[in-house]
Amino acid sequence: MFRKILIANRGEIACRVMATAARLGLRTVAVYSEADAGSKHVAMADEAVLIGGAAVADSYLRGDRIIQAALATGAEAIHPGYGFLSENPDFVEAVEAAGLVFIGPPASAIRAMGLKDAAKALMVKAGVPVVPGYHGADQSADLLAEEAAKIGYPVLIKARAGGGGKGMRLVEKPSDFAAMLAGAQREGQASFGDPAVLVEKYITKPRHIEIQVFGDAHGNVVHLFERDCSLQRRHQKVIEEAPAPDMPPQMRDAMGKAAVEAARAVGYRGAGTVEFIVDGSDGLRADGFWFMEMNTRLQVEHPVSEAITGLDFVELQLRVAAGEALPFAQQDLTINGHAFEARVYAEDVPKGFLPATGTLEHLAFPPGSEFARGAIRIDSGVRPGDRISPWYDPMIAKVIVHGPTRATALRMLEEALAGCHVAGSVTNLAFLGALSRHEGFAAGDVDTGLIARDLEGLVAARPASPVEGAAAALAALGLLEPRDPNDPWCALQGWRHWEAARHFVTLTEGDQRHDVTVTILGPGRYRIEGLAEPQELSAERTGKTCIAVQTDTGCAQLDLVRLGQRITVFNAGVSHGFEGIDPLQEAAEADTGGDSVLAPMPGLVTLVSAVKGQNVSKGDALMVLEAMKMEHTLTAPRDGIVAEVLAAAGDQVSDGTVLLALEPENA
Ligand code: ADP
Ligand code: ADP
Ligand code: MG
Repeated sequence: MFRKILIANRGEIACRVMATAARLGLRTVAVYSEADAGSKHVAMADEAVLIGGAAVADSYLRGDRIIQAALATGAEAIHPGYGFLSENPDFVEAVEAAGLVFIGPPASAIRAMGLKDAAKALMVKAGVPVVPGYHGADQSADLLAEEAAKIGYPVLIKARAGGGGKGMRLVEKPSDFAAMLAGAQREGQASFGDPAVLVEKYITKPRHIEIQVFGDAHGNVVHLFERDCSLQRRHQKVIEEAPAPDMPPQMRDAMGKAAVEAARAVGYRGAGTVEFIVDGSDGLRADGFWFMEMNTRLQVEHPVSEAITGLDFVELQLRVAAGEALPFAQQDLTINGHAFEARVYAEDVPKGFLPATGTLEHLAFPPGSEFARGAIRIDSGVRPGDRISPWYDPMIAKVIVHGPTRATALRMLEEALAGCHVAGSVTNLAFLGALSRHEGFAAGDVDTGLIARDLEGLVAARPASPVEGAAAALAALGLLEPRDPNDPWCALQGWRHWEAARHFVTLTEGDQRHDVTVTILGPGRYRIEGLAEPQELSAERTGKTCIAVQTDTGCAQLDLVRLGQRITVFNAGVSHGFEGIDPLQEAAEADTGGDSVLAPMPGLVTLVSAVKGQNVSKGDALMVLEAMKMEHTLTAPRDGIVAEVLAAAGDQVSDGTVLLALEPENA
């Protein structure tokens, strides 16, 4: 076994590889870009080497610098993770030429599977069923159209060098073919530098079922069963599971054998995935699957297979790369239970799943294991306070659950997702939660079109409930702070103990704005006005983030995080972000640079310190207004000279009254 390895990646997969390396007593070297200097994968490694600028072309794709870093630190092998250089045969050759071990398949196997057309031709030879279609060298538009007609519509045009769902076009009828072909060629050229395409029969109710394979240097190849990755949005996986729902044992057997044949045909070694498309229109049949492509690396969704087999695939990768034989044979492997994985991303779902950025001011996961098997497993490359930058994949975490049955595991997934609390960036958590409750998904009736068909219902945002709004208002007013005797908020509550004190706060959620009045009725009892109907409720903090709210009709347990005046309420898998605005501060800000000071709310002027002709600086106290039983200091909106004092102590003033005027700025 190696003593030291370098991980040529970042984010969750770099951390995941390091977790296993550490468990096995291997030392680890991280590489990082300038944008990643403070990131989790750097902190987890024993050593870290800066390899360049934030852009991936300047860092994570710089094979030369990565190899240099390995040599300089004395690492013996390089783990590529997924993405980046993981499927680049030139990199593999360069690693080997430098006298290092590439933890992955031989360059020849990657090359053989690198182009979809050549891979398919190879699979036909190896006796693996492929999707009926054309994958020849002649790329003339007329010939491709003829082939499409022979295959029969609908057809799918794919860039042969494509990946990640790019360069694909579904063509419903012959008259659309020419335009769609041009589109796929353009995208193939732009994204992969290769305009060549293949044309396939489009499977109408397709399921994506893939087989995990492993090979070693001693000629052993096994499969570790299937994963169903049919829940996709625009050909990108969203939730994956293992095993596939309703998989007949004969079909599992046939697919496993085909995948092993595929791997053998290219002399495969290490972890790989053979992706098949399956016709799900009429149940699963042992002859109803076709080879799509082989991914010659560890897959994002590998943890679901680890869960059901009880194996650590990174450990196996390391052992195989170090020359050990696989420690089991096919007949030793069995499936235990059912697992799901959901990919949690920083993305703006209502805005069409736009990647988002932000600082993860609050980040909490449900209790579980990290990068290791368990009922709930969280694989994440970020920590609280880390930034999701625009440079890389906006993944926050993979949430993996493992239960005895599919139904149990799905409920666990829903629960685990509801236990993921993120503030500081929008996420797809509510969308994933909605998917975990989708009836068709629960019934195992999955196909790659499910999300698109039901998109509207899956992305519908639930508005904040009055109870959630009330909790936010109480938090904004500091009324839910922990009862720490040294905490000044506690003193404030004590001070208010005997009177029905009223507080006022403006609460915004997106472009919604509520002027909320909170009346303290007794310890922990409040009357809330300004959100829907007036409500009376009890609220108290029961944990670090946990708030119990009792109304006439029931009790709700919410989680709530307050960062300054930004409040995030988490409830049943949905989060709502509020901002509490102090009306005085808002008035002061609105007035910044203005010439006058207005009463922000009705109240009693109790003290006037400003005098006519006085030179004041921005922020200087001018007078005190008592409103809502609290004293508010009104301050100068800018530097200037007091032109007029229009209120005196004892005046009862109404909202918007001009209390003081400054000399005009350019006078
Ligand atoms: P596929 O859908 O082909 O099985 P995956 O779902 O495993 O692939 O990942 C989607 C694509 O994006 C893959 O090509 C993978 O290598 C790449 N990818 C995913 N996440 C990252 C990441 N964090 N960094 C780099 N590449 C990534
Ligand atoms: P990529 O390299 O982008 O991952 P794939 O060939 O693996 O490309 O296809 C990605 C996805 O596109 C599949 O998971 C499936 O949802 C869909 N797809 C691919 N081929 C077909 C087909 N012949 N019929 C229907 N859907 C397909
Ligand atoms: Mg694919």
